[in-house]
Amino acid sequence: MKQASQNFSKDKNYKIEITGLTHEGQGVGKIDGFVVFVDSALPGETVTVKIVKQTKSYAVGKLVKVEKPSESRVKPFCPVFDSCGGCAVQHMDYQSQLDFKKDTVLQNIRRIGGLDNVRVLDTIGMSSPFRYRNKVQYPVSLQDNQVRIGFYESRSHKIIDSTECDIQPDESNVIRGLIRDFCKLNRISIYDEKTGKGLLRHVMVRKGFKTNELMVVLVVNGVKLPHADELIGKLTEQYPNIKSIVLNVNTKNTNIILGDKNICLFGQEFISDYIGKYKFNISPLSFFQVNPVQTEILYGKALEYAQLAGNETVFDLYCGIGTISLFLSEKAKKVIGVEVVPDAIEDAKRNAQLNNITNTQFIAGEAEVVIPKLYAEGIRADVVVVDPPRKGCDEVLLNTLVEMQPQRIVYVSCNPSTLARDLKYLHQHGFEAQEVQPVDMFPWTGHVECVILLQK
Ligand code: SAH
Repeated sequence: MKQASQNFSKDKNYKIEITGLTHEGQGVGKIDGFVVFVDSALPGETVTVKIVKQTKSYAVGKLVKVEKPSESRVKPFCPVFDSCGGCAVQHMDYQSQLDFKKDTVLQNIRRIGGLDNVRVLDTIGMSSPFRYRNKVQYPVSLQDNQVRIGFYESRSHKIIDSTECDIQPDESNVIRGLIRDFCKLNRISIYDEKTGKGLLRHVMVRKGFKTNELMVVLVVNGVKLPHADELIGKLTEQYPNIKSIVLNVNTKNTNIILGDKNICLFGQEFISDYIGKYKFNISPLSFFQVNPVQTEILYGKALEYAQLAGNETVFDLYCGIGTISLFLSEKAKKVIGVEVVPDAIEDAKRNAQLNNITNTQFIAGEAEVVIPKLYAEGIRADVVVVDPPRKGCDEVLLNTLVEMQPQRIVYVSCNPSTLARDLKYLHQHGFEAQEVQPVDMFPWTGHVECVILLQK
């Protein structure tokens, strides 16, 4: 990247060709070799921009006009696409998004991984990429004396509360409205980030797609909701399939949405849902994949790549609440799941019980600490599945896996660049990436998820 010898004028228009796209959906181009990011611009387009920000290594351009549009450009279906911080690539047709995600994986594996011969399959998309999320968390605030429950504007804490959101189930849009009306009618105080005063902070709605069960969580800066019975009546009258209404207590001055304590206001403290044939109980604090339809496809592919015959010991590392472990358990002799969050491990154990699965074991701890210890004790895996967070796998872990020499490694990744880095390391130590399957878990966003088969 060129350093800032460039001095852009804020009043001038600049014409620029867009050659790339970031996973946040910003078009990337250059002015005299200097990198410029432009919201809502697509590769292949020529656009006119005004420079609104400049740092040493890059500038940010605001789109003034698309001079030559890309063939992939479509009109975003959401009226607040330009201001909402949610979806990033609604201005791109769906097939082009899938192609873009495949290409992102391919380019990362080539550039960062230095691997030219890995087969990257076409991204598996959704037949209907709408209303796919099973969880929504709406921030609540008082703006111009009005209660607002909605989504943050991009790069801001102002809330957009005017419209439906087509990637959420219909119920969450309606429930949001009922809670807004309830707050107005009963003068429920609204939390203020600056002063730390006021009661209602967030509303979370979760839906079991296969069970149709709904959960409503009101996150409050306190321990009581005035007139709660009235709200419970309104909500359950509209949706008899609400199985759980919970008050989540969060009295800390923090950006973290949920507090540790739950008070059940109605029904039980969890809802259930299935991924494949496996049942999961989901409580307000449990992690659960947000796109259950695509998750089933992703895990199915991981199981296929694992090629289990029934006599293998399998490690499921970064196992969360044990979802992949349960998928693998049926075809393996034993599955050992490792996860750093102790509560998730408790959920994983409970989920195994719920499904009458007896050949799984779950260990709380960092994979890079637990696995070297198991290895030193003589416990080995024939097949290893890893599903790390965005930062990828720790090198100590990769090193132990290389020494352990499983037959194959199945890598599930949500970040192509750390994936490429780890594939490079494994390649240098005798594990060959054979095939990559991208799966679109988050339509209309730039996020890419994929599963990879590595063979010894
Ligand atoms: N496989 C699960 C969860 C994947 S998300 C699923 O599909 O549902 C990644 C998980 O890695 C998170 O649950 C996170 O808590 C966990 N994690 C993060 N760092 C870790 C580490 N060093 N060792 C083990 N688990 C870790």
